[in-house]
Amino acid sequence: MTDTKALEECGKAAVEALEFSRTVVKEGASLLEAAEKIEEFIKGRGFVPSFPVNISINEKAAHYTPSIDDKTVFGRDDLVKVDVGARKDDAISDCAVTIDLSGKNSKIVETADKALEEAIGMVRTGRKVCEIGRAIEKVVSAAGFRPIQNLGGHGIEKEELHSGVFIPNFDNGDDAELKEGDVISIEPFITNGYGYVDETDEAQIYQLAGSVSPRSQEARSILALAAEKYMTYPFAARWINRELNGLSDFRVRRGIAELISLGDLEPFPVLVEREMGVVAQSEKELVVEKDSCTVITKL
Ligand code: MN
Ligand code: MN
Repeated sequence: MTDTKALEECGKAAVEALEFSRTVVKEGASLLEAAEKIEEFIKGRGFVPSFPVNISINEKAAHYTPSIDDKTVFGRDDLVKVDVGARKDDAISDCAVTIDLSGKNSKIVETADKALEEAIGMVRTGRKVCEIGRAIEKVVSAAGFRPIQNLGGHGIEKEELHSGVFIPNFDNGDDAELKEGDVISIEPFITNGYGYVDETDEAQIYQLAGSVSPRSQEARSILALAAEKYMTYPFAARWINRELNGLSDFRVRRGIAELISLGDLEPFPVLVEREMGVVAQSEKELVVEKDSCTVITKL
């Protein structure tokens, strides 16, 4: 049985963090400071971040979070996706907004929000996921944009941020049906580019995937920390620097590389739009009910 009350508390904390993010995502502000302030905000509410805050700008669609040495500042024309979650015990939230710093991208931002609301209005027990995808695609195409085909919503289960059902952002022909009590996120990613994301060589976010003993001291420390503190949840390289008393980014990266080669860590590479189109995202989490749904990421 889903504990809807615990979920709603996590959902509220995450939405408050999104609202807070609008005060720190500003032209000229540091990404690193913004990320750490948003994560501190979640902790200050008595929760743990479900995953490192993703701050993905323009053609970067997802999985970017600053490193400890990140010197990037927000630019005047940046289109910024902020994706956050809060967790307490087994309850996990996940939601995202797009912040348009120039005001020139309001159409794509509004279209992503509209597609999400259209999709949420269709949710009920027995609804096929391809029907939700088709509804999203219809809104997005009508506005002259394309859905990103290889990103989408997902089931959320105990200890697993991504599990079970995949909710496409277009009609992918998948006639899997939503079940009563399913906890899912729906997240249209849309673009003025090609409609597909590719992995880059850069990763800032990782997840525990094995327990083979590494040789180097730094890899051992990172593995022990991940097993004890992050368990099945994604973490940032920068969290390791902080937890291991300022261990240099060079040594953290070397340790992480060793752990990846052993199969102990899985990286989440930064995802970039195939034709460098700008990407907007809108995400909410909800519980599937018999004839509708309950949105849990709301104030
Ligand atoms: Mn998300
Ligand atoms: Mn998600």
